[in-house]
Amino acid sequence: MLLQDTITAIATPFGTAGVGIIRVSGPQAFEIARRIFQPIHANCPWETHNLYHGDIISADGKTILDEALVSFMKRPHSFTGEDVLEINCHGNPLIMQTILSELVALGCRLAQPGEFSQRAFFNNRIDLSQAEALASMIAAKSAKACAIGLAQLKGSLTKEIDNLRTLLIDALAMIEATIDFTDDVPASDIPQSPQIDHATLRLQSLLATYRSAKIYTEGISVVITGKPNVGKSSLLNTLTGKKKSIVTDIPGTTRDLITDMINIKGVPVNLVDTAGIREPKDAIEKEGIALVWENLANADVVIILLDGSKPITFEDKEIIQKNKNGNILIAINKTDLPPAWATGSIAGLLSPEVKILHISAKFGTGLEELKNIIVDSCLSENSIDADSAMITNMRHKMALENALTNVRTAKNNILNGMSPEFAAFDLHEALDNLDEITGRKINDEILDKIFSSFCIGK
Ligand code: GDP
Repeated sequence: MLLQDTITAIATPFGTAGVGIIRVSGPQAFEIARRIFQPIHANCPWETHNLYHGDIISADGKTILDEALVSFMKRPHSFTGEDVLEINCHGNPLIMQTILSELVALGCRLAQPGEFSQRAFFNNRIDLSQAEALASMIAAKSAKACAIGLAQLKGSLTKEIDNLRTLLIDALAMIEATIDFTDDVPASDIPQSPQIDHATLRLQSLLATYRSAKIYTEGISVVITGKPNVGKSSLLNTLTGKKKSIVTDIPGTTRDLITDMINIKGVPVNLVDTAGIREPKDAIEKEGIALVWENLANADVVIILLDGSKPITFEDKEIIQKNKNGNILIAINKTDLPPAWATGSIAGLLSPEVKILHISAKFGTGLEELKNIIVDSCLSENSIDADSAMITNMRHKMALENALTNVRTAKNNILNGMSPEFAAFDLHEALDNLDEITGRKINDEILDKIFSSFCIGK
């Protein structure tokens, strides 16, 4: 589907840089290139996928706006599947805006967010899951998340969805073949379709990748809690290696939560120090703090910090009680000082699998072990293979869950001797759910919503 208008956008982030890139895509891209670009060499061959040196000139041809390198990608062998022009100019926002205005004067329309990717999708250069992979790769916060995004962009998920489709289509073919003869076919003769069992297993294993992959893509949240003065801020500062913590306003509370991001074994870890939460002084503050606790209840790991150099108190025990159902880790701090209590005195409050560590936030003792335990406790499968098919996107997860329900229902309908139309209906639904992931079948509103969340110029 080739669209009639030619779009343009700045593809690099706003701000000053050595180089900035402006993209143009659509049927007029080359014609516009010949008007805005004056090659240094008069006999420029204007070949596709080549880089040419020259001047960018104003639409009226009178003013040189910048010296640049430009490339042309002839359709269909371009990112969008259309004719594409890319201008590598100097990365000054004023220069780039001026060139952009000239491109508009020459007939381009400013691109909407994600519109280049949307065109790539419409022109079958990538499917929807690959377009989403591209967006998540750009936003990735860890090297592993980039690798997962890249593998998806190269089609790891698309391939697995294709395999699943083939299994379901084969199963459907066998079942539908019996539909016209149902009156003659006893229910027990309706094919059991091993493909359905096979598809069920593959859907389950693909869904199982979500948790681990999400840890690499979105990271984990770790809350440091404990009564005042046990060393929460010191721990945050030592872990992040910063003297001063970053303070973030969390809506709904009059106090601040202190948060910072670190990377442990390739996993982005968002650390939250609850030191800013104090006893509420009034009803509004109470409500705000309740909201904060609600947010903290969703943490992947809660570090309960205790002061090993001072006797354990009722307040410490209350904090343990309050959090004991979460994924907790006890860190006894200030072990550089003489101990004031024995670990055994809290053992009764904890389930046996809870780890107890001895650390010194001030001197950094025991922090490597603490970091390893934080990440290992979240990575149940420990290592993941970024090259194999895996899912990181909530939309994909939901579609796969629906497809799994469909194939299970189909199987039950066959086992219960229902007419084969029922199983066929469920398998068609499963296929529709898979097709939502790749965008083979998806409604326009959802499509627009997905692409509009992409950045401009992508
Ligand atoms: P918070 O109120 O829980 O955030 O506690 P802080 O991080 O502000 O620390 C309270 C006090 O304990 C400060 O004087 C820190 O220097 C001290 N402190 C923190 N960690 C250690 C430690 O490992 N050893 C010693 N000796 N003092 C510590």
